[in-house]
Amino acid sequence: MNVVRLSNVKVRYRGGEGLKNVNLLVRNGEFVFLVGPSGAGKSTVLRLIYMAERPADGQVVVGQFNSNAITPKEVPFLRRQLGIIFQDFKLLEDRSVYENVAFTLQVTGAKRKDVKRKVLRALTNVGLSHKRYKMPHELSGGEQQRVAIARALVNDPFILLADEPTGNLDPVTTQGIMALLEKINARGTAVLMATHNYSLFESRPSPRKRVVRIENGMTST
Ligand code: ADP
Repeated sequence: MNVVRLSNVKVRYRGGEGLKNVNLLVRNGEFVFLVGPSGAGKSTVLRLIYMAERPADGQVVVGQFNSNAITPKEVPFLRRQLGIIFQDFKLLEDRSVYENVAFTLQVTGAKRKDVKRKVLRALTNVGLSHKRYKMPHELSGGEQQRVAIARALVNDPFILLADEPTGNLDPVTTQGIMALLEKINARGTAVLMATHNYSLFESRPSPRKRVVRIENGMTST
C-alpha cells in the first residue's frame, strides 16, 4: 500500500523557486529520506503532504485523501492521521510535557482516561514518562524533540513527517533521535524525513531505508 504519492507536482511562488516537478512515493512501513540542499523544496513537499499547500499542477495523495478533492473541512481529519515534527520542536512553552502531548487529544474531545493512557504510552515510547511534569525549558534539545515525537505519535499516525528533525541537535543527540525514529519505523509507522544531511542516511543503513533527492524543486532517485 502507498501511504503518500506526489505525481508531477508543481508549486509556484511569487519571487521564489517553488517546485518544478516532484514525484515521490512512500510505501507502507518505509523510511524515506528526502535529501537536498537548503532551498531545494523539502519543506514545501512536507507542507503539500499535510495540505498546508496545494499544488498548482499534479496531484498529492495521502492515505484516502487527494489534493484535488479534499475539502477544507477534511484537512483536520487528514492531519490527525499524520505525525509531524520540526527542527525547532514547536512545543507550547507555557504547558508541561504531559499537556503538550495531551493537547491534540483534548481538543478532539477524547475521554480523560483515554487521554492519560495514550499520553503515558507515547511518553514511555520516547523514554520520557518520568519528565511529564517538567516544562519544555527544563529539558535539553534532544528531550524536547522526544516530546515533539511523542506528541506526533499520540494519535497513531500512519506516517511521521520530519522536517530536519536533528538540525538543532549535537551529533550524539542526533544519533539518539535517529535511533528512536528507526524504532518507530520498525513498529510499522512510515517515516518521511527531510534533511540536507545525506550522512544521516549513509551512516545508519537499513533495508527499510531509501533516498529521494531533490534539487531546484525537482526530485530524482
Ligand atoms: P527547503 O526546505 O529544501 O530548504 P523550501 O521548500 O523551504 O526548501 O523552499 C523551496 C523554494 O521555494 C525556495 O526557493 C524558497 O525560497 C521558495 N519558497 C518557499 N516557501 C515560499 C513562500 N511562502 N513564498 C515564496 N517562496 C517560497
